[in-house]
Amino acid sequence: MPGTGPGAEQAGAGPVTGKGGADGQSGRARGGRAAAPGAAPRSGRSGRSGKAQTPPGPGCTIALMGDVMLGRLVDGCIADRGFAYPWGDVLPLLRGADLRMINLECALTQAADRGHDGAYRAFYFRARPSAVETLKLAGVDLAALANNHACDFGFEGMEEMLAVLDQAGIAHAGAGSNLAAARAPARLAAGGLSVSVVAIADSPPGWAATPESPGIHYVPVPPKPSTLAEIAGTVAEAKRDADFCIVSVHGGPNLRDRPPREFREFARRLIEAGADAFWGHGAHVVQGIEWYRGRPILYDAGDLIDDYAADETLRNDLSGLFLLRVGPSRVDSLRVVPVAIADMRAHVARGRARTWLVGKLAELCAEMGTAIHDEGRAVRVTPAAPAAAAERSASG
Ligand SMILES: [Zn+2]
Repeated sequence: MPGTGPGAEQAGAGPVTGKGGADGQSGRARGGRAAAPGAAPRSGRSGRSGKAQTPPGPGCTIALMGDVMLGRLVDGCIADRGFAYPWGDVLPLLRGADLRMINLECALTQAADRGHDGAYRAFYFRARPSAVETLKLAGVDLAALANNHACDFGFEGMEEMLAVLDQAGIAHAGAGSNLAAARAPARLAAGGLSVSVVAIADSPPGWAATPESPGIHYVPVPPKPSTLAEIAGTVAEAKRDADFCIVSVHGGPNLRDRPPREFREFARRLIEAGADAFWGHGAHVVQGIEWYRGRPILYDAGDLIDDYAADETLRNDLSGLFLLRVGPSRVDSLRVVPVAIADMRAHVARGRARTWLVGKLAELCAEMGTAIHDEGRAVRVTPAAPAAAAERSASG
């Protein structure tokens, strides 16, 4: 069910200023955006901004999130306060999107034994399988499982999670009973578009799925040329029969607000291979967004739900809901709704928390040649092209 009207924003046409799109400002009810006052056509721009003149083409709004960790204290909160609790007031915004995607940073399993592959691990995250109800409540459509916690309770625990997600009708990518399954793109559809998602992680290598054994879709970064060619082939194939292709990448060093150079290069290679959007997570903090060949690279979406201690400097308790309005092979707009975690629960960031995150995002994006435009609740991210700047000043 689309939460935004189609065609209000045109690919390559520069920024538009109509509010009330996927950012949720136009009200919490679905379909409530038509009356949003900001959607009024601007003078002198006929043919671009009037909804009536724009034939509805295929398009949908995809909500990308970073880590969702439902174990430990969050698991306890769900037991005490209900399945909806962790989403807080982010829930209505999620329901306004057409597709919702998370990195599920824990196992959903009853397995009691931690997986042991010989590597030291400080943290093991597990939630009861019933926590899948939390995902269902928010309408989560896809869980990326290529990460460093999917197999915290062994490959059996991971495979139990696959069954739990399958039974709930939640697509997943990045882990499986063998390499082919872990590598296979998830395929979804919304708004007349087919969307494929490939998920990879750069650690732990000990969990790499093989042709005969279960695990995650492991790809080291930077990859060897042969590995890069392989992942590029996987992405190209995922794109071949989909209108829009997303690559989820969980990796990089923890608690860094800027991606290492090898990640920037890797992200660009994936876009060149056919990805329409790069969806990074793993550092636990939001990183800058780059626009490359007309496609967004979200280096790190941060953490949306967890119970981690907050670092006062890096503010890992702040992240965002990343709303992509997409058409075939293109992103028409990208908006970020700042989100904060408090008491094991996400909520739309306000006040000082919001100001901090928007300022940080502006700084990080500026370093990558993108600009952010504050629209009230959401900020819009665009290439920092001269045309964009002119449009912004003209619209006040
Ligand atoms: Zn992780």
